[in-house]
Amino acid sequence: MIKDYYDVIVIGAGPVGGYLAWKLTGKGLSVLLVEEHSEIGRPFQCAGMVNPSAMDRIGAFDTVMTRIWGARMYSPSGTEIAIGDPNTTRTWSVCRKLFDERVVQLSLDSGADLLLSSRPIKADVTDSGVEVLIDIDGKTNQFNCRMLCGADGAHSWVRRTFKMGRPKELLIGFQIEVTGYPGEDGRLDLFTGNDFAPGFFAWAIPSGNTTRIGNWSLPHKLGEESCENLLKKFMTSSIWKDRFANCKEIGRYCGPVPSGLIHKPVIHRVAVFGDAAGLCKPTTGGGIGKGFEQVDLMLPKLVDAIKSNDFNKATVKDMNDSISSFRRNQNKARALRNVFLTESTDDELDELFGVWSQPEVIDLINQLGDIDNPIPLGIKMLKDVPEFRRLASKAAGALIWG
Ligand SMILES: Cc1cc2nc3c(=O)[nH]c(=O)nc-3n(C[C@H](O)[C@H](O)[C@H](O)COP(=O)(O)OP(=O)(O)OC[C@H]3O[C@@H](n4cnc5c(N)ncnc54)[C@H](O)[C@@H]3O)c2cc1C
Repeated sequence: MIKDYYDVIVIGAGPVGGYLAWKLTGKGLSVLLVEEHSEIGRPFQCAGMVNPSAMDRIGAFDTVMTRIWGARMYSPSGTEIAIGDPNTTRTWSVCRKLFDERVVQLSLDSGADLLLSSRPIKADVTDSGVEVLIDIDGKTNQFNCRMLCGADGAHSWVRRTFKMGRPKELLIGFQIEVTGYPGEDGRLDLFTGNDFAPGFFAWAIPSGNTTRIGNWSLPHKLGEESCENLLKKFMTSSIWKDRFANCKEIGRYCGPVPSGLIHKPVIHRVAVFGDAAGLCKPTTGGGIGKGFEQVDLMLPKLVDAIKSNDFNKATVKDMNDSISSFRRNQNKARALRNVFLTESTDDELDELFGVWSQPEVIDLINQLGDIDNPIPLGIKMLKDVPEFRRLASKAAGALIWG
């Protein structure tokens, strides 16, 4: 039974919208989730890696296809660095469709209502609430709520409608799913080379019986090229083609990766979350874990404001301030990514890999390497590895002021 009044309307029933709705209903609030597609979890654009802290939050271990404990990383000319320890889980490779379904199901079990094949067409903020017009299967319906939340992805309607700005970077990713890739169980492969992933990297991620092969980059680095063409180039390159000789494609995905928290994710009675807020990590493109973290950090203030129906300037500022550390961390991680990867030529990358492959540097990576937080490792390498000290000045500004 859909009502016409809710405490909160959440646009977008992806992982972050589902998680937000679950957390809000858990605090006794009524929530309507609005999803434009006719089913949850399709289509998706994702390599399906969910970090341990995000997985622990929802316990969807039945969606795991492969436990990832390590990586093989390759320089443009093929130098290999193998890192990881089979006893330490670094990330989970999941079935993204099942994962999204599980998260949304948690919210439904705790009392949220869900509209499928529905999208907002107008929203007006008043002193006492928000009026939202929603198109449901071609018919317009009016709803009212105390707060409107956008968890509606990279091209967020909520963010655009309320002119909330844009994420600093909008990267592009392309991926295919294949059978027949000769990977190593529990280890993902990362390949660098400006010919096929300018400034970034390509990946091969085990996911049960299949492997997800993809690449990503920034539009200005791509120029006239597309990630799709570059991936083809990578898979047929003389250095890597043997790896893909027996691969058979079974699916393909392409999508944006918004990275760089927008200036004000909350304005008055409207807030954006996850990709809509620009939360993806500049180093890996991962956005699910960061979206969950954002919800958890903002939740206490959000719940107070909604329950008291008081969205005064100080409250809104508090909500924005509660996640400002994300912006600083993204800036620092981006600065490290730029000096170690994005601004390096292939020759420089080969040199960097030469240093990374030294046993004491691999030990450092194994000790401090954290897919969620690359900053401590990056800073330690700049300080302690003599060959990297020359890079420190390039990153200094962003690291200090980021
Ligand atoms: C190639 C690629 C690989 C990636 N790999 C990973 C990875 O391995 N791990 C990781 O953590 N992240 C990865 N990401 C990023 C990840 O996919 C996103 O960060 C994550 O999906 C964000 O979740 P979200 O809920 O914020 O947004 P989405 O997952 O985009 O969900 C938004 C939802 O809102 C719905 N919606 C949109 N507009 C409207 C509207 N107007 N009305 C109603 N509904 C609407 C959409 O249909 C969708 O269901 C990858 C991205 C790409 C492109």
